[in-house]
Amino acid sequence: MSKKVLITGILGQDGANMAEYLLSLGDVYVYGMMRRSGSPNYHNIKEFKNHDRFKLVDGDLSDEVSINNIFLEVQPDYFINFGANSFVGCSWDMPLQVFDVNTLGVIRCLEAIIKHNPSCRFYSAGSSEEMGDVDYTPQDLNHPIKPRSPYGASKAAARHIVKVYRESYNLFAIHSILFNHEGTKRGEEFVTRKITKGVAGILKAVNQGKEFDPIPLGNIYSKRDWSDSEDFVRGVWMMLNQDEPKEYILSSNETHSIKEFIEMAFEAAGIEGEWQGEGLEEKYLCSDNKTPLVVVNKNFYRPAEIELLYGDATPAREELGWSPEYSFKDLVTRMVENDIRLSKESA
Ligand code: GDP
Repeated sequence: MSKKVLITGILGQDGANMAEYLLSLGDVYVYGMMRRSGSPNYHNIKEFKNHDRFKLVDGDLSDEVSINNIFLEVQPDYFINFGANSFVGCSWDMPLQVFDVNTLGVIRCLEAIIKHNPSCRFYSAGSSEEMGDVDYTPQDLNHPIKPRSPYGASKAAARHIVKVYRESYNLFAIHSILFNHEGTKRGEEFVTRKITKGVAGILKAVNQGKEFDPIPLGNIYSKRDWSDSEDFVRGVWMMLNQDEPKEYILSSNETHSIKEFIEMAFEAAGIEGEWQGEGLEEKYLCSDNKTPLVVVNKNFYRPAEIELLYGDATPAREELGWSPEYSFKDLVTRMVENDIRLSKESA
């Protein structure tokens, strides 16, 4: 029988990748919830926006009336919550909005499920930011919750509330921790996309013989466990189709510094670079003519930083049978090549 899947955050990276993956499976109808906006950006869903098994629905995680109405209209078999204010950096500037969407929004989804169809399976995206100030490496599901940002705290609270609803109402409801995941649909405020877009812009300028500004970055020593979002959406679907609502960590089982990401991104564009200086004076220079490609700018430092994230996804690999298709190098190369292509298309 065909399945109906309601996805929040459809215009974002994960919502769009999830929809694309589900539509490729056949016999799945996908309903993508988006917030009303005067100028919505459909870029991430342009490949399938007019697909006959896809429909956009207007709603907002901060508004329970809209969640209820959409739930009743769609009658989903699966409800996947990728909607969030997902940028850690801005969460200090708007902590109330972050909690409203990321935590209360999850309660609004769960309430719609218990009220209208408790057999609907629910997935809500958790984050490695919940681990925060890590005690040990690699981090597994037993790692204590020690968030370092309002964003991390909002996701940690959501994790607890999903557990409470699962146990209180016997729901198939999971909140699994996703370590950093990126890709060609990543928002430009995240460091990976900022770097790959910057690299593509520099390559274009070099090819046209023009001057360019270096990419300004904050803490280039923090380390992250980066995967491709396209690999994660497959894992999420596997989690949703288990017999029991068991939660798993998804991660690459590797960690890399921002500096390594920078080096690999320039290499993918055929630009050789070298590091020089220390602290705020540290720079990545073009090896040929010593022009700065990357500079450190303290405006991009955070009030509190997570220095290291490194997840242990062994249970997901061994029990769930999930494994990633893309390596760290594949991820960086795909993102750089995509941004080079986009920079050629733009005037
Ligand atoms: P996060 O891990 O979810 O916070 O993902 P981000 O891509 O926003 O940040 C990853 C890491 O890159 C963090 O340690 C940031 O402090 C660091 N970083 C360094 N420079 C920048 C920058 O210019 N923008 C962003 N977003 N992060 C930066």
